[in-house]
Amino acid sequence: MHDSDGEVAAPGTTGRRRRYDHWIAGSPRPPAAGGRRVSTRPGTDEVVCEIADGTAEDVRQAVDAAAKAVVEWRSRKPGERGRVLAAVAEALRAQTAQLAELESAESGKPAWQAPIEIQGAATYFDFYAGIVNQAAGEVLDLGPGMLGYTRREPFGVVGVITPWNAPLNQAARAVAPALAAGNTVVLKPSEFTSATALELGRIGSEAGLPPGVLNVVTGAGVAVGQPIVEDSRVRKVAFTGSMRAGREIGRIAAERILPLTLELGGKSANIVFGDADVEAAAKGSVQAFVLNAGQICSAGTRLLVDAEIHDEFVEALLKALAEVKAGATYGPQTTEDQYRKVLSYFEIAEQDGATLAAGGRAVGDGWLVEPTVYTGVHNDMRIAREEVFGPVLAVLPFDNEEEAVRIANDSDYGLAAGVWTRDLGRAHRVAAELEAGQVYVNGWQAGLVEGPFGGYKSSGYGREKGIEALQHYSQTKFVAVTL
Ligand code: NAD
Repeated sequence: MHDSDGEVAAPGTTGRRRRYDHWIAGSPRPPAAGGRRVSTRPGTDEVVCEIADGTAEDVRQAVDAAAKAVVEWRSRKPGERGRVLAAVAEALRAQTAQLAELESAESGKPAWQAPIEIQGAATYFDFYAGIVNQAAGEVLDLGPGMLGYTRREPFGVVGVITPWNAPLNQAARAVAPALAAGNTVVLKPSEFTSATALELGRIGSEAGLPPGVLNVVTGAGVAVGQPIVEDSRVRKVAFTGSMRAGREIGRIAAERILPLTLELGGKSANIVFGDADVEAAAKGSVQAFVLNAGQICSAGTRLLVDAEIHDEFVEALLKALAEVKAGATYGPQTTEDQYRKVLSYFEIAEQDGATLAAGGRAVGDGWLVEPTVYTGVHNDMRIAREEVFGPVLAVLPFDNEEEAVRIANDSDYGLAAGVWTRDLGRAHRVAAELEAGQVYVNGWQAGLVEGPFGGYKSSGYGREKGIEALQHYSQTKFVAVTL
């Protein structure tokens, strides 16, 4: 692993810290205005690396490079693009240990988890390398004397803006299908966790992406993200992050008639019916809300439990929760704002009259919080309606299937949902009725690359993952031929 423009001694640390420039046109590019920002290990003052604090001028240069690279990249045979993507996957796998260490340092992810996410990033490149030919059109029957067909064509330059909770994984989730479909990319990672996206820029170039096909510009949301959305040469933007920023991007996009994929937040319902395997459902429900310290958009944070088994199930849940160790199962909240937000919800839940069944406190002063469960929650309480983005679970009872579905759907969000039951008919019936982009039956399976992922309602629109993502990174042209 090399640094884009060398290493500098880190004041106040014993090690040496990395200094990154942007990654533009296949090589490091210093920030035009010279600005720098440091990224620190969550909950500490330890500097992990220094990144370029970008401006609109850096974005302009990156879009220049991406626009120049479009024709050559989209003109390659799909299989040739696929071969380069497969090489990126292989390089990510070969460098998993170093990338995982970097990602863990910036995000606070525990050492067991970070390598899994890096491997997950590699899987995206493998998956889209394998289905690169699926962005295909169809022949239409227009009757004698006519030939009609459709072509799937890339947009050109695609902007990708990502958050801090799964930095490399989410970058790969958008970049791999965008490149497979023949686009070039300007990627802006979160200012809190930019290092592995910059390493992806380097790895991409080393693996054979031509200069300009994947560019990485770092810095703040308004300073760098907004100019990407505003640049008329950017023809599509894929944004993952908060509803607030999604709305701001949406306003600009409305002016530009710019196609977007928006992956926003969630408050996903996880429904346990009376006939469920209690032990499996308890373990799965814990995993659904504690993984990554709850900093997952698709976390199962509203647990709906059949009143028939409520007390027995809460007991099983707390037993399963006893296996979870803050600081080992998951790390600290990644940013201080996020940490303060979680603490504020402990107060909000108490004020709203929810019953604290476990946790509810910080652990030490390093942005770590206890896994927390509230029972006696009503669906109109803020703890049931608002995304906390921490390891905090709201438990709500229900009396019958109809009520379970009604409560689950009574939410602004609609990203994911879970159903635990041994009744096959009920499983499919409820899965069909839930207003959510993904439904998991008898296992919280949020990480699958193969299945389309995205929101209903305020959780966003457009789809990442699966074959479907290739459709979202390409546009349809109809050709009518008179024979
Ligand atoms: P955020 O919206 O603050 O930031 C996300 C990215 O957008 C960052 O790169 C940021 O710099 C940039 N940004 C911020 N304001 C911008 C603006 N005005 N214009 C352009 N870019 C801007 O979100 P966050 O705090 O990094 O992430 C947490 C949120 O992301 C949560 O709400 C979570 O649910 C959501 N999320 C969604 C998914 C999903 O796939 N649906 C996945 C992960 C996180």
